Amino acid sequence: MTSDQRVWVHDFATGSREMRDLLGGKGANVAEMTRILGADRVPGGFTITTEACVAYMESGGATPAGLDAQVADALARLEAQSGRTLGDADDPLLVSVRSGARESMPGMLDTVLNLGLTDRSVEGLAARTGNPRFAWDSYRRFVQMYGNVVHGVSGERIEQEIRALKARRGVTEDTELDVDDLRELVTTFKGLYREATGEDFPQDPQVQLDGAIRAVFDSWTGERAVTYRRLNRIPDSWGTAVNVQQMVFGNKGETSGSGVAFSRDEVDGSPEPSGDFLPNAQGEDVVSGVRTPRDIRELADWQPAVHEQLMDILRTLERHYGDMQDTEFTVEEGHLYMLQTRNAKRPAQAAVRFAVDAVAEGLLDRGAAIATIDAASLDALLHPTFGNLDYTVLARGVAASPGAAKGEIVFTAKEAVAAAAEGREVVLVRPFTEADDVAGFHAARGILTSEGGKASHAALVARGMGRPAVTGAGDVEIDLAAGEMRVGDVVLRAGDRIAINGTTGGITTDDVPLVEPEISAEFLTVLGWCDELRTLGVRTNADTPQDAAKAIEFGAEGIGLCRTEHMFLGDRQPLMADVILAADDEARTRAIDALRPLQEADFEEILRTMAGRPVTVRLLDPPLHEFLPHPHDLPEGSPERARVESLQEANPMLGTRGVRLGILMPALYEMQVRALFTAAAKVDGANVEVMVPLVDYERELELVRALIERVAQETGVPDGAYTVGTMIELPRACFLADAIAHYADFFSFGTNDLTQTGLGFSRDDIEARILARYIDVGILDRSPFETIDSPGVGQMLRMGAWLGRKTKRDLKLGVCGEHGGDPDSIDFFHHSGIDYVSCSPFRVPIARVAAAQAAIGAPAGVWA
Ligand code: ADP
Ligand code: MG
Ligand code: MG
Repeated sequence: MTSDQRVWVHDFATGSREMRDLLGGKGANVAEMTRILGADRVPGGFTITTEACVAYMESGGATPAGLDAQVADALARLEAQSGRTLGDADDPLLVSVRSGARESMPGMLDTVLNLGLTDRSVEGLAARTGNPRFAWDSYRRFVQMYGNVVHGVSGERIEQEIRALKARRGVTEDTELDVDDLRELVTTFKGLYREATGEDFPQDPQVQLDGAIRAVFDSWTGERAVTYRRLNRIPDSWGTAVNVQQMVFGNKGETSGSGVAFSRDEVDGSPEPSGDFLPNAQGEDVVSGVRTPRDIRELADWQPAVHEQLMDILRTLERHYGDMQDTEFTVEEGHLYMLQTRNAKRPAQAAVRFAVDAVAEGLLDRGAAIATIDAASLDALLHPTFGNLDYTVLARGVAASPGAAKGEIVFTAKEAVAAAAEGREVVLVRPFTEADDVAGFHAARGILTSEGGKASHAALVARGMGRPAVTGAGDVEIDLAAGEMRVGDVVLRAGDRIAINGTTGGITTDDVPLVEPEISAEFLTVLGWCDELRTLGVRTNADTPQDAAKAIEFGAEGIGLCRTEHMFLGDRQPLMADVILAADDEARTRAIDALRPLQEADFEEILRTMAGRPVTVRLLDPPLHEFLPHPHDLPEGSPERARVESLQEANPMLGTRGVRLGILMPALYEMQVRALFTAAAKVDGANVEVMVPLVDYERELELVRALIERVAQETGVPDGAYTVGTMIELPRACFLADAIAHYADFFSFGTNDLTQTGLGFSRDDIEARILARYIDVGILDRSPFETIDSPGVGQMLRMGAWLGRKTKRDLKLGVCGEHGGDPDSIDFFHHSGIDYVSCSPFRVPIARVAAAQAAIGAPAGVWA
């Protein structure tokens, strides 16, 4: 190797877990295990780096210069170490060629086992081991896998041949096939190989090795892997490493076997290790489901010494990695080998349990324990679930927003609102949803759509509100005209009962019991630690006393966003319409006076529920016409219709809304503020923050602030008893934050609108039409409405925060967009000087965990 060549290959003996970017997770951990468990526990080998894969991809499939020679050198070292030679006729070295990316992509990339077997060396292996059945079993596996992985021989064809042979022999298990059967299979598979490639199965192990390495590289760009990366936001640019490892054999007879083992129960996280194993099998058999594996506890009866060694190793690995481990092992004639270890992916309850136990056992300190939790996954613990898993599935859709819900079917948002007002529980069923349907989301227990996926309007809005939703249920036919939903022969009408499970996508007409989520003692413990560690405050977005109460239960320290618009919907809509359509000032005053006591009662109840915690009330934000009937529903030529039509805007999102309303129709804001202050006067210790939306110009805030102060005086509220702030949700407000801050006691970044206006993206349009393609071609890796676009929108936020504090050092800074509940965004906010985030009640616990992780510097949502 000349000095200007890059190092493409590392022996296991020289790698370590810190090198995972270069060696992939599997390679780095195999190297680490070699170091800590000793070379006799881990079969030897070497790793071809991810950089080699990247170079291979960039050159369009050419072997990087120097790679062949470095592989040959490493192979020679492995041969010397093992005392065997690849392809040797007497005593061949066999290897596996294993993929392994930086993050594990289970089953997505390819692996070839038993490489090095040929027509000659299989005889050598048979003679050497005195076990011809084992030798031929290994060979048929190799021919089968190599054909499939390297040249695309159909796996289905292969399985067909095996099934056919077993049928002819009258046996059910692979293990019942004898040597002659296995020889026959090798011949058959070679035939399939010739059919697929027009060539004979390669008898030169070098050719085999070369082909397998390329195949693993190629599997990185295979469709399976690409789709998986899209879903899991893994960059295409990483590439996979390739691990070449000496084979050990679990299929050598009854004292051999293979298995997977977790250092703790992988479902509930309890300290007992769990897993499966199969005697006389190679690793593939355990996961493939071809045979039914045995519980890892039975290992103690099968081979007690191996069981003890394995338990000991699991403990060692867990201590070393400081996290629950997921391992693969093989026993060859009583000798235990470890083939893989990684931090275990686990469901939320297991993650929480592990964190608490790890601290109790002295394995981790609190910060480190919290860092092992995937904050986003905690969602699963915070929603109602079906209490009965044994129900008849009517249809299935996309599990779009977690939790379960049941109720009567309604087909329109209006019906949902009306039904909820009567105290009925309903599920809103639509082909798809739009902005106009959002009031129905509030009113419904759950949402079901026949179209759209995880990023549809219905899914996003439902997740934001913590409403369970199943979307894209293709078998459900919704006929709005007929007022029916049909699934096959089943016809359901409005008022019929239905239950949906947004965690699994299941839909049923059974009356399944719903179980309310209970925050377990362990979860409470973890949340308590998080509160000690975090510096970022966590509030909630809540518009109703019910949401507020739920949020307090989940640990919210206040309301960061109380929207007032829903207070004008439902049966109050006509009152609001009167305000807007009033012919003269007198009529308007009358209409407003009718609304005020209702608003006041709303505020009073919320303030009581919050018991002295801060409550940020946002003055009316949406465009007025949203409260009006559709013009077509009014008599043609009527003055009402003319007035409603005159209020229609070409682009309401950028029209008469937010503070602009307050400037154009001050009486409305005045009424809201009066209602709020009057309510506050009745509640002991009420802590009120008045928030003005959509401010662009400092003068806008100056004017509305003057109005608020006047009303405060008129209602006898003393100066220091309330604060006035603004939402920062327009680019100009970020750039001019120093000027705006003169009139604000606090800023709350409305990152939803800031994202829309900063990127010039209309959320619904982008998510429905553009997002998928943008992710496909690598412009985005996720929706900027889900995780803040930190270089762009986030930078504006930072500028706003910095300029605001230039004017007022103690300016309070919050975030109240949906990003306030997203772990990655929370990390960004923590590092931007934000004081608190505000998110939907159901995301409050997630935000508490994410805020703690940000404070201790844990990478958010990244799995080892
Ligand atoms: P995956 O990432 O899909 O699990 P692996 O590379 O881990 O793929 O290999 C697939 C199976 O083959 C596993 O069960 C593994 O334990 C087994 N295996 C891989 N290399 C060897 C080896 N050198 N000796 C014995 N079994 C092996
Ligand atoms: Mg594996
Ligand atoms: Mg807004």
